[in-house]
Amino acid sequence: MDKKQELIDKLKSYDPSVDAALVERAFDFSTKAHASQLRASGDPYFSHPLQVAHILADLKLDSHSIITALLHDTVEDTLETIETIQKQFGPEIAQLVDGVTKLTQLELQSEQTKQAENFRKLVLAMSSDIRVLLVKLADRLHNMRTLQFISSPEKRRRIARETMEIYVPLAERIGMQHLKDELEDLAFAELNSEGRDSILNRLKFLHETAHLQVDEIIAELSELMKSSDLPAQISGREKTPYSIWKKMQTKNIAFEQLSDIMAFRILVNTAQDCYHALGVIHSNYSVVPGRFKDYLSTPKANNYQSIHTAVIGPFNHRIEIQIRTREMHQIAELGVAAHWEYKQGKTHEGRQYSWLRGLLEILEHASSPEEFLEHTKLEMFHDQVFCFTPQGDLISLPNGATTIDFAYAVHSEVGDHTISARINGRQMPLRTVLHNGDQVEIVTSKSQNPSPTWERFVVTGKARTRIRRFIRTQQRLQFCEMGRSILHKAFRHEDEVYSEKNLEIAAKALKYPSVEDLLAAVGEGVVTGTEVVHATRPEPIQKQPDEQEAFLEKPYKPKDTPKQEQTTTSIKGLISGIAIHYAGCCHPLPGEPIAGIVATGRGVTIHTKDCEVFKAFPEPERTLDLAWEDSISSEEKHVGRLKVTFFNKPGSLASMSTAISKHGANIANIKVTHRTTDFWDLLVDVEVKDVHHLGNILASLRTLSIINSVERV
Ligand code: MN
Repeated sequence: MDKKQELIDKLKSYDPSVDAALVERAFDFSTKAHASQLRASGDPYFSHPLQVAHILADLKLDSHSIITALLHDTVEDTLETIETIQKQFGPEIAQLVDGVTKLTQLELQSEQTKQAENFRKLVLAMSSDIRVLLVKLADRLHNMRTLQFISSPEKRRRIARETMEIYVPLAERIGMQHLKDELEDLAFAELNSEGRDSILNRLKFLHETAHLQVDEIIAELSELMKSSDLPAQISGREKTPYSIWKKMQTKNIAFEQLSDIMAFRILVNTAQDCYHALGVIHSNYSVVPGRFKDYLSTPKANNYQSIHTAVIGPFNHRIEIQIRTREMHQIAELGVAAHWEYKQGKTHEGRQYSWLRGLLEILEHASSPEEFLEHTKLEMFHDQVFCFTPQGDLISLPNGATTIDFAYAVHSEVGDHTISARINGRQMPLRTVLHNGDQVEIVTSKSQNPSPTWERFVVTGKARTRIRRFIRTQQRLQFCEMGRSILHKAFRHEDEVYSEKNLEIAAKALKYPSVEDLLAAVGEGVVTGTEVVHATRPEPIQKQPDEQEAFLEKPYKPKDTPKQEQTTTSIKGLISGIAIHYAGCCHPLPGEPIAGIVATGRGVTIHTKDCEVFKAFPEPERTLDLAWEDSISSEEKHVGRLKVTFFNKPGSLASMSTAISKHGANIANIKVTHRTTDFWDLLVDVEVKDVHHLGNILASLRTLSIINSVERV
């Protein structure tokens, strides 16, 4: 039979409204794209996507999932692009194919599975549409079914281990029991073939000797239900070799002791019938203690509902029995796929399958609130992002995290010394928000320290705490340094001697626990220099003879010492944003004379000496002469503000920014302050090295014909 028709017939059998033409197109597209390729088995490559499509069709998934299955390897393995798929099959299918492709690329990185839990979360988070995960699971299932054709034993083992640790739990998580069982057994066969063989041999032996007859037990249980007037459907099976093996491992029992290797399922109509059936079973057979579990009243995390018990059943075999309703069973077996089955026959036109829409759909169609919950549990991981270190370690971060959060998550020391970051090999700003699967490389330097600006764009507590702690300790150190400078000036001004001894006296008088605390308070502007100097002068009434001695011992200091030069304080090493701030009114730049105002509680604000705000400041005792450090480090950039008026002509803005960038400067901000038909007034913040740098920019802007006027603000 024609393979194309076979697939379409299968789809039509459960969804008569299926867009057969589109499925056909995908079939042909994939056949052509994979034309020359072969599978490891020697089969034409297209047999793989076709089988994946069949696995999903057997689960009765919607036609977009089937088309995605047909196309899922075209972008990764052929010359076709996601753009072509978008053009030919629309954005929804393109998005699904893109999602599966990304998951496939992800597995290439995952050499180590030690971080299995994080990896599972990553896979879930990247499956923004649950169908992406379903296609991926079907893809993995077919690859496991054909695993024996891969010649490298290491590769086979890696794929099997990844299946066991990542995809089996995911299949279980979304409730795809059949898929999970088969994946697990195939992986088990690869990872521990002797273990599996010994269990299969033992099962064979039991069949021959111990009258292990699933059918006969089903018959007896059915009879029992009928005689109790309970309409029930009973099925039974031998447990999978892997589940038997796992039980032997966890319970540490030998195979001979493990008798309940058969499991039976009783499906009834209502929850009440479940308990009725349980009563019938328990009153007819001896109960195995400790095995009764009621997941009906307390569903499992994945919303699995069932009653479990174990009894010494017919023919004295220990058997496990699960009792549940048909509806619970459908959800348990098909998991999320069950929802598509419910939805068949309803209109599919124009439906958006985005994650949120999907949730709304489920909310509308779910037959129980629990069903809805099951899906929102998947969504949990959407508030996290998972990124890789260059070594392939997975770092989990909250949504919105930036490279600085990543650096701190790797190690506090890495965070503290971050200077730049590369994301997927490209240098990116530190404030870049990270996405799932990003590989992040942090470049550090011993001389780098946390910047106060980082605090604005980190989201993790760890990063924020470290940055704040650094700022606090720095703040104190820098406030102390500032305080010292302020006091030098104040003591000179008041003709007193600046000495540790005097500082100690003042600290005591002003009730500071130490000289350092006093210095910090002065630097912060809580106490003024004058107040400190006055505090060193003993009150006349309190004068003690020995203190007077100390007073007299002051070294001689001529009154006419020139004060100005010595009172200049260097701001070398002080970090902007901690103890010093650059004033927004005059934007001081290195190379021009500066002065500071000690603002109460905020440290020192730096102005240019000719700034109007500074000149008008009413308290001279709160001002300081400052100097830039001698050699200006080219690292730090300062913002100079320009007021520009230019002719409103196309390209004016571009010519201006070109002129600025020619000087190696960066535009930090542009604000249009006034706009008429012929002129624009702008405020342009330019990041420059110093005042000369800005001067050069000014000069070259003035040569531009489009500029009417430009001046520094
Ligand atoms: Mn594939």
